[in-house]
Amino acid sequence: MSHATSGMPARPVVLDWRHGTIGDLTPCVLCGTPTVCRSPVKDVPCHKARAETWITSYARDAGDRARLIRAYTPGRGEPR
Ligand SMILES: [Zn+2]
Repeated sequence: MSHATSGMPARPVVLDWRHGTIGDLTPCVLCGTPTVCRSPVKDVPCHKARAETWITSYARDAGDRARLIRAYTPGRGEPR
């Protein structure tokens, strides 16, 4: 179930990291807290929620945010 939220400019960023991997507990590159989650794009330890928060706060506008989401989402257009 989904409904349009066109009246709300600040939709939360949700990254598709289904292709992400996990590893040993290693300090996250964004917050320094140990995580097992690896960024599927850069293969560095990184909390998915942290990355989403980072994009939300870093993006200057909707277009910039879309660009960042694409940049940090692996395998876009990849057949499933
Ligand atoms: Zn983190």
